[in-house]
Amino acid sequence: MPVLDQLISAIRDARVEVIDLTAPLEAATPVIRLPEPFGNTRPFALHEISRYDERGPAWYWNDISTGEHTGTHFDAPVHWATGRDGEDVSQVPVTRLIAPAVVLDFSAEAAADPDYLLEIEHVKGWEAEHGPLPDGGWLLYRTGWDARSRSQEAFLNANETGPHTPGISVGCARWLAQETPLAGLGVETVGTDAGAAHSFDPPFPCHASLLGAGKYGLTQLQNLARLPATGAVVIAGPLPITGGSGSPCRAIALVERS
Ligand code: MN
Repeated sequence: MPVLDQLISAIRDARVEVIDLTAPLEAATPVIRLPEPFGNTRPFALHEISRYDERGPAWYWNDISTGEHTGTHFDAPVHWATGRDGEDVSQVPVTRLIAPAVVLDFSAEAAADPDYLLEIEHVKGWEAEHGPLPDGGWLLYRTGWDARSRSQEAFLNANETGPHTPGISVGCARWLAQETPLAGLGVETVGTDAGAAHSFDPPFPCHASLLGAGKYGLTQLQNLARLPATGAVVIAGPLPITGGSGSPCRAIALVERS
């Protein structure tokens, strides 16, 4: 049987499970909040054009307003100054949007410490158990933060010292960017960097290192708990916004069940 027929057959009889990694996109979807004097993105909104009424008797449709970096979304290299000469979101090759993924589960550590940072030795320890990081694939960093994603306050977890959400250390971000064959990093939090990463040296190391190396970010993912440590395939679908720095994205995982 042709391989695509095999795939469809396997999806229909649930030998391949399809798991949605995408957060609902609505007005309440959390968005990042930067302090003064920085600009901020707007939350997602629907603007009704007609709904089976005098404005359009047989049809319902809306305009939408959203940031590129709202909800589950894709960061293109050009999002960061270090990647300014790299791809915009419309230029990411479609073949890069279907890729293997591994899941590193540090949800227990993040529950104990919201400022938890992934270090190189943690990733190497994971590799010793599960094998190398996938060539051209995603490292999906599970922190349990998706459980907070219906509340802006719980999701950003900010106090007078700023947001407190788990992330990746400066050294580990640089190592992932420069020494591994990954295509990108996926997280459950509002951005790929830790909440406290504004104060790191250099600041926002995941953005700076990974996007500067031509790699990608996927944020506000859900349901990583349903994925195996290895073996999933992720299909990420950002809109091809010409010149865009990123895009809201449908992220779907395929998981083979034995
Ligand atoms: Mn982003």
